[in-house]
Amino acid sequence: MSDDRLSALSFDVEEFFQVANLRGHFKREDWDEVPSRIDVGMNAILSCLKRNDSHATFFFLGWVAERRPDLVQACLDGGHEVASHGYEHEYLWDLGQAGLERDLQLTEDALVAAGAPKPIGFRASTFTLTKETWWAFDTLIDRGYKYDSSVHPVRHPVYGVPNFEPGISTVSTEAGELLEFPVSTLQVAGRNWPVGGGGYFRLLPGALTRRAVDSIRRKGRPASIYLHPWEFDPDQPRIPAPFLKRFRHYLNLDRTLPRLEALIQHARFGSMREVLEQNGYSLD
Ligand SMILES: [Zn+2]
Repeated sequence: MSDDRLSALSFDVEEFFQVANLRGHFKREDWDEVPSRIDVGMNAILSCLKRNDSHATFFFLGWVAERRPDLVQACLDGGHEVASHGYEHEYLWDLGQAGLERDLQLTEDALVAAGAPKPIGFRASTFTLTKETWWAFDTLIDRGYKYDSSVHPVRHPVYGVPNFEPGISTVSTEAGELLEFPVSTLQVAGRNWPVGGGGYFRLLPGALTRRAVDSIRRKGRPASIYLHPWEFDPDQPRIPAPFLKRFRHYLNLDRTLPRLEALIQHARFGSMREVLEQNGYSLD
């Protein structure tokens, strides 16, 4: 499809040792001792976007932004949007409402100190915005956020809101309104399947992801694809996790970059902000 409608591309900027899947192996208090590998992924992503003249949204962990303001700056220099992935990758149900307030404040402070505007977009750790943590919308609205990308409209043992609207929608609470722009799912056999990124992006053949993007766009919706810097780092240390976790984390890491490149050459992608604006949503 060669039209001007953008789909959204986003990256959750976190270190390989901060991933929920490997949580048991790296204690929070040890994070500063683990050698950072984030540059491998960030360099690959930023140069790929640059040579394809494409933009994206980078949801930074506050913890990373605090230590690496240069990475925030590199994203801004590339014309990308910088948004919030929370401070240290806590699940929303562990944070609670007061904890989320603190978490958002710390992340906003780190991003602004690094030279970014105050973020208007948020993605919770591990899609933990569910019916049980719906109060997070009130907190985001009160703090001036304009969109969220934390609801995953799938059936999953830990997260997900299976019947949630798969495109862009407006969530209304007593505090006001916020746009929800989830990562993409595709309805097959009456169920929503995650096609928007992460393990599925590396598991499914690239052509299948491209077809899924086309199919979502034919329905009149922008697709929303997300990945992480560690998915572009095939040489990261291997952690002796249980088989399924290892499989999910290390599968096809060497294919992420060529697949992303083929995808953004196949269809036009932009930041979450650009896509929302192109679809007529006001973000002021
Ligand atoms: Zn994350």
